[in-house]
Amino acid sequence: MEFKCVEGCSDCCINREYYPNKKFGKIGVLILPEEKQEIENMAKERKINVSMLPRIGTSRSQNEAPTILAYQMMGREINGNVCPFLDTDSEKRSPHGGFPCKIYDKRPLACKTYPLIQTEPTQLDQKCKFCKECGHADKNLDEEMESLLKIKTMMKTDAPVIWRYATGVGEESDKNHIKTGWFLDE
Ligand code: SF4
Ligand code: SF4
Repeated sequence: MEFKCVEGCSDCCINREYYPNKKFGKIGVLILPEEKQEIENMAKERKINVSMLPRIGTSRSQNEAPTILAYQMMGREINGNVCPFLDTDSEKRSPHGGFPCKIYDKRPLACKTYPLIQTEPTQLDQKCKFCKECGHADKNLDEEMESLLKIKTMMKTDAPVIWRYATGVGEESDKNHIKTGWFLDE
């Protein structure tokens, strides 16, 4: 079946999940170090506030501070949801009727990749509305696949120690479970 966004859906630009679990808080859009400056420049030009936090770090040993391998762009709502570049105020709509992205042509690689996710073998994210409503897709995913391969290549590392950053962001009711700062990736 051919992949295409569900009419009117903007779920992947709105909803953020706890990953890998509540302790790490809600994640943002994965941003590679090479992308960070351009995204920040585009935000500045449009007078949009973006919060960039580290996502993954690497080091040679557990006693060494992590070097950032990837960042994440956090949602604009206090609970971590809603990408700061999602245009929810105007009457404009994307070709499939969802809220438009203010930087669509220059959106992050992670956005170009979705709903493909980094699993072995590669799968569609079951939280994508298309997957919920239509199940599996194996066509019209060339750009997503290409973007995923780029991310995998750019995030390749031989560092022996991998760290994951806990964002401290999430629902008020989950605050007691959510941490902030670097933790070893188990
Ligand atoms: S990729 Fe999936 S979740 Fe995102 S807008 Fe399209 S159908 Fe909705
Ligand atoms: S940058 Fe654009 S495509 Fe990516 S999550 Fe934000 S609004 Fe959606």
